[in-house]
Amino acid sequence: MTKEKIVKASPKYIQHFLKGFPLLNKENVTTSIENVQDGGILKLVDTHDRFIAKGYFGLQNKGIGWLLSWKEHEEIDKEFIYKKIQAAINQRLHFYYNEDTTAFRVFNGEGDGFGGVTIDYFDGYYLIQWYSKGAYSFHEEVMESLRELTEYKGIYQKKRFAQEGKYVDEDDFVEGTRPSFPLLVKENGVQFAIYLNDGAMVGVFLDQREVRKRIRDSYSEGKRVLNTFSYTGAFSVCAALGGASLTTSVDLANRSLSKTIEQFSINGIDYEAQDIIVEDVFKYFKYAVKKQLSFDVVILDPPSFARSKKHTFSAAKDYKDLLKEAIAITEKNGTIVASTNCSTFNMKKFKGFIDTAFKETNGKYKILEEYSLPEDFKTLSQYKQSDYLKVAFIRKL
Ligand code: SAH
Repeated sequence: MTKEKIVKASPKYIQHFLKGFPLLNKENVTTSIENVQDGGILKLVDTHDRFIAKGYFGLQNKGIGWLLSWKEHEEIDKEFIYKKIQAAINQRLHFYYNEDTTAFRVFNGEGDGFGGVTIDYFDGYYLIQWYSKGAYSFHEEVMESLRELTEYKGIYQKKRFAQEGKYVDEDDFVEGTRPSFPLLVKENGVQFAIYLNDGAMVGVFLDQREVRKRIRDSYSEGKRVLNTFSYTGAFSVCAALGGASLTTSVDLANRSLSKTIEQFSINGIDYEAQDIIVEDVFKYFKYAVKKQLSFDVVILDPPSFARSKKHTFSAAKDYKDLLKEAIAITEKNGTIVASTNCSTFNMKKFKGFIDTAFKETNGKYKILEEYSLPEDFKTLSQYKQSDYLKVAFIRKL
């Protein structure tokens, strides 16, 4: 048995930990963690040295490790990991049998009982993402479990911890066969081009599946749709498939042009009939106002933080202003789809931004519907920050 390092919980966090809060960080423990190996087992105790839970050491942008078991005599070994992955797969069997959707999340970190690692499925290929060296120290156990539990064409991985949390390019292939890229997957019948070996982002964010479907099925017919921070244009593709009269995709990154052309093309949409613009969104808003352009649907899905030459955007600080820019170019009775993956504020606060933005522009609105993470992105009720996605469909009245 490996030696366990004893860590004391800060008194005011003991109740949270006992109820299942999974994240260890510098604020909620009193023991300074030194000389612990990445992946070393930590035993969390209360003020009277009574056992609370055990977990592992792994430095990541959030926290210093994750709690895994609240049973004192449970070992963190291959069997433990196997059972977690098995349970996660069993909860997603309906995805495996769904022919219209061949990409989904199989294992969502702490939501599935093991923080620091996620596993996604892309039409027979698995992508494992490791968020700390500590998490990666369990890679043999995770790999063995996948080999035993699944039939796969190939496995890829991303080490999201190399050099201060920044992703460093390397060959992400682990084993099996390599597909020819792009790997084509389906989501509710829509095709997406996926690149598993081309940096941290693979082409589509799986957590927006339900939002994309909703935009396609209920908000696009005959509409002019503006998709800002469009990346590979996944929302634009869904809008076009839903009958949009025109989609306009705006993203700062040069790569977004070819990537968006590709996503349109594999879905049989003539990309030349769509507008794809490589530009700073904030500059585009000014241009649109000057040219008196307006849209029936405006999609806002910015990163939590972004820095461009002229602009720093932080969702927590600047989302309200972003909304005001969108309100200015949205038609009366049009829809703004406001989305954020920022985990530092919740839906209530997000709705506060929406309310303030409309008040400051003397406008009225109605929130038509709200979305959060889909079921394959399983979260823990004890750890609210992991439920990061917030999407509101807003009617401008
Ligand atoms: N909405 C996308 C995901 C957005 S990812 C989707 O559903 O797939 C964030 C994107 O924002 C990146 O592609 C990045 O290039 C872009 N971005 C960041 N800052 C920007 C800015 N100021 N103007 C335009 N695009 C920006």
